[in-house]
Amino acid sequence: MSSVCREMSRDKPGLADFAALYIRCDDCGNEKRMTPQVLARFVDRGIHCADELRPKLTCSVCRAGGGIGKNVALIPAFRWG
Ligand SMILES: [Zn+2]
Repeated sequence: MSSVCREMSRDKPGLADFAALYIRCDDCGNEKRMTPQVLARFVDRGIHCADELRPKLTCSVCRAGGGIGKNVALIPAFRWG
């Protein structure tokens, strides 16, 4: 099993390094915060960085309104910043 993100994680912070991850929808402005506990569950499932996580996320508000909800931005908050 190989992961591009895992290869890169020596230089680039991954989900496990984030103090929190904010998911913001650029279409409707909906924003939610993922805690380290939630992020750890993604890491357990083999998702190690934001680039791997983004395709799996949709905006529930836009989905509920009939949109595709894929215009989401991931904004990490770091432990040290
Ligand atoms: Zn939205």
